[in-house]
Amino acid sequence: MSISANITEFKKQIGPVDVELIAVSKTQSIEKIQEAYDAGHRIFGENQVQEMVDKYEHLPKDIEWHLIGHLQSNKVKYIAPFVKLIHSVDSLKLLHEINKQALKNNRVIDCLLQIYIADEETKYGLDYEEAIELLRSDEFAELKNVRIVGIMGIATNTNNQKQIKEEFYELATLFKGLKLAYFRKDEAFKEISMGMSADYKIAIEQGSTMIRIGSAIFGERTYFKIKD
Ligand SMILES: *Cc1c(COP(=O)(O)O)cnc(C)c1O
Repeated sequence: MSISANITEFKKQIGPVDVELIAVSKTQSIEKIQEAYDAGHRIFGENQVQEMVDKYEHLPKDIEWHLIGHLQSNKVKYIAPFVKLIHSVDSLKLLHEINKQALKNNRVIDCLLQIYIADEETKYGLDYEEAIELLRSDEFAELKNVRIVGIMGIATNTNNQKQIKEEFYELATLFKGLKLAYFRKDEAFKEISMGMSADYKIAIEQGSTMIRIGSAIFGERTYFKIKD
């Protein structure tokens, strides 16, 4: 199927529930992203700073760019002027830097705390205690140019549906706990970013509000470099 047909199909499947579709365009060409754009899609996710900046420069300016991959503090400045949402905040140090760069750009940057839910060594993220510690800290209270709007997690890469379901359930449960404890009156804190091509259906069942879909929209990733 074409990219536009895939997007239409996803939107149909999501149906009336309030779930945002992030088209994960990492490694995909400008032409393919333009095709999705021409089909009416505006929300794209990238996992590398340089690639996102290159694409931002080459594509229409009403695209919402979401950074979904691990972010190094020294690269925040490149995306701070335009990034719509950072899904992958995994330390107070990083949040400090995002705040600093947001201030320089005279804006507030929306962020999600990335929570470690997978049964794997390689994934980034905070564990529950670390997330709570961050939210309770005095330093966090002073950061006025970042806004935490929810949490994000990546399930274990496994065929075990039950395990994936449990991991997403845990993330949704943590979300509810954090909401009650720290964001009770904050309407902006409402996002649970969970679900990828292989597990988005389970994620939606468990309360996802943002699914991050790459290969099911664009096909398998072929690694390439943008020429300048
Ligand atoms: C690549 C990536 C996705 C999309 O993966 P697909 O399996 O292609 O849908 C989602 N989230 C993150 C964090 C990713 O790095």
